[in-house]
Amino acid sequence: MPIFDNPNQIIRPEILALAPYHVQPATGMIKLDAMENPYRLPTALCDEIARLAADAPINRYPDASADALKFALRQALDIPDEMGILLGNGSDEIIQIIAMAVAKPNAILMSVEPAFVMFRMIATFTHIQYMGVPLKNDFSLDLEAMLLAIARYRPAVIFLAYPNNPTGNLFNADAILSVIQASSGLVVIDEAYHAFAGASFMEKLTHFPNLLVMRTLSKLGLAGLRLGLLVGGSDWVMQFEKMRLPYNIGIMTQLIAEKVLQHTNVLLEQAETIKSERSIMSTFLSAMEQLEVFPSDANFILFRVNKADQIFQVLKQRNILIKKLDGTHALLENCLRVTIGTPDENQQFCTALHTILNH
Ligand code: PMP
Repeated sequence: MPIFDNPNQIIRPEILALAPYHVQPATGMIKLDAMENPYRLPTALCDEIARLAADAPINRYPDASADALKFALRQALDIPDEMGILLGNGSDEIIQIIAMAVAKPNAILMSVEPAFVMFRMIATFTHIQYMGVPLKNDFSLDLEAMLLAIARYRPAVIFLAYPNNPTGNLFNADAILSVIQASSGLVVIDEAYHAFAGASFMEKLTHFPNLLVMRTLSKLGLAGLRLGLLVGGSDWVMQFEKMRLPYNIGIMTQLIAEKVLQHTNVLLEQAETIKSERSIMSTFLSAMEQLEVFPSDANFILFRVNKADQIFQVLKQRNILIKKLDGTHALLENCLRVTIGTPDENQQFCTALHTILNH
């Protein structure tokens, strides 16, 4: 009998070569690294949630199709009646389901670079070839390059985040429409940051049969629940449903999300506060001559600064955690990304950065 005592002999080489998705330890820190909403829910709503949790039949499996939750999502997110909905344990899971479903031999998953890192990582997990078309230097979509790549490689699926992470900008909507029209495969518009952008492809779904729109409740204030959704033609959704693991959305997520969605005004008001803080912060940062600040339609701001790594480390020593993107892509050289927090957190970040730069 052979003895396999070493993961290197068993695990796929591309998985051995992967660096794990890194979540930075954040206990006790001002946490501005993960695009979370910094606000809690109002106490009265928390009390209602506590009662729901106390009464939840957690000895039973949850509703497998989560129909009540889907109904609440339809109402809250203006999902067209004729469109199907697929729910995921976060939108990460939905990316994975789509990638698994289209991963024929030689199939290609396409996105732009830099983009949300999970597009590339999930392509590796699911054994589908990844292709990233570089953005222009100003982080706009390089439509010409995209159209050439689409014609040449005929990707099974294209993922575009709108607004894009980590750059924060909305790509030109007409350019995206050209991509959708040129593509013979699926185009998934990932609208994770929709609440901060006020632009969407949701209403275009009925015009383009190869278009899917993805959303998440994570950036809206429910990151801990893990709920993402895909909206699109029911012929697509029906196929993806087959790959969704049974009961992927737990009972607590179903009950709490449904309850909170009856109060979307709370989440939307928080998003408005975040947007006005974004504008205050963007003005403050832009006034610092050492920084190049990129415009953002999301709940974070990307900026470039000399010695970004050093600045990131000093901020960390001061208990302020942001995200270092320097080193992840050529276009992101010396770039850092800060999530918009509460006014107090933002001010602490801005003051610390100002002090470090003028030391
Ligand atoms: N899409 C984009 C563009 C993101 O930035 C993120 C989270 N950083 C996600 C999807 C995943 O979000 P979640 O799994 O929490 O729904």
